[in-house]
Amino acid sequence: MARNREAGQRSDRDHQGGFQPDPGTSSVPDHAGVTWEAHPRYGDIPYRDTAGGYDLDYRPALPAGAVRGDPHRQRDFCNHCQPPRYFYLDEERTCVECGRGFVFGATEQRFWYERLGFQIESVPIRCPACRRADRSRRRLQRRLAEATDAARRQPDDALAQLVLTAATVEHVCGLGTGSLDSAIRAARKAVRLDPNLHLAHYWEARAQELADRRDKAIEAYGQFIDAARHSKRRSTRQLLDDALRRRADLQARSTRSPDGGASNPGAVAG
Ligand SMILES: [Zn+2]
Repeated sequence: MARNREAGQRSDRDHQGGFQPDPGTSSVPDHAGVTWEAHPRYGDIPYRDTAGGYDLDYRPALPAGAVRGDPHRQRDFCNHCQPPRYFYLDEERTCVECGRGFVFGATEQRFWYERLGFQIESVPIRCPACRRADRSRRRLQRRLAEATDAARRQPDDALAQLVLTAATVEHVCGLGTGSLDSAIRAARKAVRLDPNLHLAHYWEARAQELADRRDKAIEAYGQFIDAARHSKRRSTRQLLDDALRRRADLQARSTRSPDGGASNPGAVAG
């Protein structure tokens, strides 16, 4: 193992008399076989040139604002290349995505390295908002990939077609890409396979709305509203409210600018 010997390293002989360990907290019983390394963060830390390497039980004095680390909970680090994280301090970082500064907090660091098991060399390169957006992006992509796969494997499963429509609509809403025509085809196929699958009308309407086909969207919302009007299920009631609001918005817009579908007011009456 290559060991990065830092500038300022001192031998035990150099150090005699100068070391004042945190009383009663250091596991270093004597100075035999120990060299002391000057570290910019941890001060003088003990190192043994044996399999042990850095002393995992060493407890340097905490500076203001620091959170004590437990090296025994830290994983995947070379105990000869780099000292463990004896304590954590808030760190200022810059997001590679949005360029904004953010704080990688001391307690968050401890959570990363001691609970989540991240390597102690790893650091966040994105701010929390960009990390959330990134996770959401991946989730939408994974959902659409899985839905596409399931619909292909079970072409006669109405629910699989419905899930594909919903996943595509959410992908388009979140990321701006996705085949709305495929989503609409899947929704219609779902209804052909199972005429009682009223949710397919809702998701077709969402797809039609995103494709800017107002009259078709209004018509599909109307089909869903008629079918779901008496449902007692909470999730359906929520979608019903959403469908009523969306249809009203589309109808209002159609009245203001007839290009988008007011040419067929019969569909509006639902
Ligand atoms: Zn950012």
